[in-house]
Amino acid sequence: MRARLILGDYRALEAALWTEIARVKGDRPLAPATVVVPSGRLVRHLKLAAAGRFPEGLFAVRFANLFQFALALADRTDGRFVPDTLFYERLLLRWLESAGERPFAAADARTYDLAGALHAAIRDLKDAAVPCDPEHLVDALRIATGEPGSRLSALDLRKLGGLLGAYRHYEEELRRLGVADRSDVFRAAARRARHAAGPLLVYGFYDMTQVQADLLAELARAVPVTLFVPHGSDPEIWRFGDWFRAAVPVEHGEPLPASAPPPAPEVYTAAGARDEVWLSAKRIRTLLDAGCPPEEIAVVARTLDPYLVPLAAFFDEHRIPYDAPPAQALLDHPLAQAVLGLFRAALDDLPRDLTLDVVRHPLFRGPADRRHWHLLARTLRIGRGEDWSRLDGPSRRGHRIVVGRETDEDRRELHIGAPAVRALRAAVRRVEQALPSAAAGWHEHAAAHLSALRRCFRLETLLEEETRVVDALRDVLATLARLDAFGERVPRDVFVEAFERECRRRWIGAPAARGVAVLDAMAVRGLPFRHVFLLGLNARVFPRFIVEEPFISDAVRREVFRVLGHHLAVRLDAYDEERLLFHLLRTAPSEGLVCLYQRADADGRLRDPSPFLRPFLPLDREQIDAIPHSERAKRGRGELATPRDLLRATADPAAALAAFGFDALAYERARAYLASVDGEREVGAFEGRVGPLAPEWARRSVGRLSPTRLERFATCPFRYFAEEVLRVLPPDDAADGEDLSPREIGTLTHALLEELYGRLAARDFERDQLDAELAAAATTVAAAFERRAHVPLRGILAARFAEVVRAVAAFAAFDLAALGDWKPVWFEEGASARVGALELSGKLDRIDRHRGTGWLRVVDYKRRFHDHWQTALATQARRGEKLQAPLYLALAPAVAARHGVGGAVATEAVFQFVDEYLRGDPSVDEIREERLTRRFLATDWTGCRDDVEQAVADFATFIRDGWFFVRVADEQGGHCTYCDFGWICRKNHGRVRRKPEWTPAVTRYWEIVRP
Ligand code: SF4
Repeated sequence: MRARLILGDYRALEAALWTEIARVKGDRPLAPATVVVPSGRLVRHLKLAAAGRFPEGLFAVRFANLFQFALALADRTDGRFVPDTLFYERLLLRWLESAGERPFAAADARTYDLAGALHAAIRDLKDAAVPCDPEHLVDALRIATGEPGSRLSALDLRKLGGLLGAYRHYEEELRRLGVADRSDVFRAAARRARHAAGPLLVYGFYDMTQVQADLLAELARAVPVTLFVPHGSDPEIWRFGDWFRAAVPVEHGEPLPASAPPPAPEVYTAAGARDEVWLSAKRIRTLLDAGCPPEEIAVVARTLDPYLVPLAAFFDEHRIPYDAPPAQALLDHPLAQAVLGLFRAALDDLPRDLTLDVVRHPLFRGPADRRHWHLLARTLRIGRGEDWSRLDGPSRRGHRIVVGRETDEDRRELHIGAPAVRALRAAVRRVEQALPSAAAGWHEHAAAHLSALRRCFRLETLLEEETRVVDALRDVLATLARLDAFGERVPRDVFVEAFERECRRRWIGAPAARGVAVLDAMAVRGLPFRHVFLLGLNARVFPRFIVEEPFISDAVRREVFRVLGHHLAVRLDAYDEERLLFHLLRTAPSEGLVCLYQRADADGRLRDPSPFLRPFLPLDREQIDAIPHSERAKRGRGELATPRDLLRATADPAAALAAFGFDALAYERARAYLASVDGEREVGAFEGRVGPLAPEWARRSVGRLSPTRLERFATCPFRYFAEEVLRVLPPDDAADGEDLSPREIGTLTHALLEELYGRLAARDFERDQLDAELAAAATTVAAAFERRAHVPLRGILAARFAEVVRAVAAFAAFDLAALGDWKPVWFEEGASARVGALELSGKLDRIDRHRGTGWLRVVDYKRRFHDHWQTALATQARRGEKLQAPLYLALAPAVAARHGVGGAVATEAVFQFVDEYLRGDPSVDEIREERLTRRFLATDWTGCRDDVEQAVADFATFIRDGWFFVRVADEQGGHCTYCDFGWICRKNHGRVRRKPEWTPAVTRYWEIVRP
């Protein structure tokens, strides 16, 4: 028996299908028939169309796609069908990893990717029904190479030979395991063709694989088969599929008359995918408003990836219902990442960031308050593994985190309570112990991982999207459990690797909604619409760029067909299919076709239209409607406007916002801000004029002024506001990383000097005691640091601390040699003193007393000399930049009086740059001395006292009156380059940075800091 063949375009074929069904039924409503089509979407379309066509019902007619039909027909005893691609990849990966020399790649490249590529090539061979007989096949091809016209090379044969080895193993394993893949299902169905129920109406195929065609041929022998094959008069377009039309034994073809010609395309150009979608949304909204049902409109692209995100935004804005494939990959969802992290963390030795991502996920079981866990792990310098035991130290009394500057007066502390520390420790233990580490079977691993998922995450209270994520993860675990068929025991890292690979194949999305169909070009085949919007018609996109398959070259594919008669699809023939696809898309709509291509991408790079579009382009490209890129020009096109468009264009946006139900108040605030920033000339409420401080704020700022804080105000009032009034914590001020932070190095330097000089005082500052006392002091300070920070001084930390000790040793050696009649007497003493009308307080590192005169000198330790220290200290004091020196001279007598030494006079303040002593031999290097020490004498203070007192009083007034504008210095070395608040201060806005200098009320500020 031969099949009937009906040829025509899809519209004519569909009409012929209904006629044929009506003929088969005749006057027997229960007469059976089976309609077999290429895709599930086409099944859906035909069922809906049949409901409209046969309102009285279509009994005993079954619609199925070809694979469903074959699966139902196949004898299940031939093997159990396994749908999971992972199963076949695992099978081939086992072969790649088995003992013996394997072709294709070095041992370390035997990955799932390679197994996946092998599987694709083997699938091609099986779909072409190529027998698994390597010697026979290669011999046949080898003989063919001698024939004139053969293009086979030795390399082609070698690669094919390697692949055939894998193919044979694949087939043997499937037989051993009793498993059937998709090709086996078609072959088994072909063997049982006589059991099929006819008549069969095979609709819509323009191509098939060899095994599918063989099945059809067997069916045609057994039952009445009618083929409805799309075809047309242009041989160029219909070249693709010639093979298929010849492969099935058919009676002569019955051509149908052509349907009405498709609508002429409207062509537009756009700059980027977003603009293409913008125009499509406008036009679709207009069609919907005119009464076109959304299901009769399609938006199509060769590949949808670049369009799904803008499409969701514009379609939502235009209230367009649509049915699009899911846009989110499973592993892009935070919950899926956290679950993968849970499975992976212990294998990777609990790396800090990964582990914290898991335990800080809101669904991870644990206390609600996890705010400080990240800070806790960072400050304890936890990297991975054993480092987590550092949480044991503070788990009884909590952990104190010190942040802020190097001096005590600026230091701030954050105390993390013991319960929070213990909770983090418990959470990390839960991750560590969630899964057994021993090797196990796939099913056993899957059960253990599912149990860990349930125990560690709260799955009882999931949102809708989270439920879809968890369902997908459960499904992945079930897929992995089916690998148990291999009967192997695998280590857990192998299981997790497979889990991650399978997760990468999954997407999550809401259940398909009814609406405008958003499809890629392959999914549209055979579907009719009233209107089609065809996006991305650019060169190298449509037609897509096609490369040969790596294992089976096109030359081999042609020879296999020529010599053995097995149709192995030639990759480069896919260009013919692209041409056919474009034709099908062009003829899919009955009323309107809009074609869009990008003249340039969103970044302005020029792009060419698709060669398929050329026949429809006018010679003068200027005549093509170009969608403008700018929003203003788009508004000028007069397209339909959404509420958002109207808001952008209206003269009274606040009223329009209120009318549309948006937040008009927030808009008004934002507008007032921009009007103030852009419209006014002086510093306003949005740029740092906050007005007189309320008592609480004044207490926090003016009430605790110190030289350092005033210096900070002189540097930049906004920085003072952020740091001293708002108390904003700089983002990276807490310790992190492997090394000591600059703040910690400063703290250790001061602590070591205090401890050392305290010890040396008991030895009357004998120079030969230095080494011994320094070693003892270093031990004490290191132990205190470890106790406080709960971090051992090991590795890089120990090396950095050793550097601190060396710097202190070098400084102390010089200092002891140069003490002369000066004797250090008091260390780390705090006191207050009046400067003008203000009471200022400070802390002094060290006070020396002269053995003869009783005079005092203040010694202040700094770490490094910077260029700004070259300016005279009196000048810097007048500008408010360095106020420590004058204040120290005022404070030292107060400290002496507290110790019972009345009437003492402070003659100088000395700044020692401790780290600089490590950079040479200070005892002989006089030229470098200016980089080691800076002095401020009592006579300097007398000369600048009036100016300094006035500057300090003026700063205090500015602070009280609430002037906190920016003072920008962002050139190289300027204070903005080391400021922590550049991310919040808006210094990059031109008017914000210039207004302070135009504001008369703060002229005095500039007279002080820039005389
Ligand atoms: S970055 Fe510059 S302008 Fe901004 S707060 Fe810091 S110092 Fe002021």
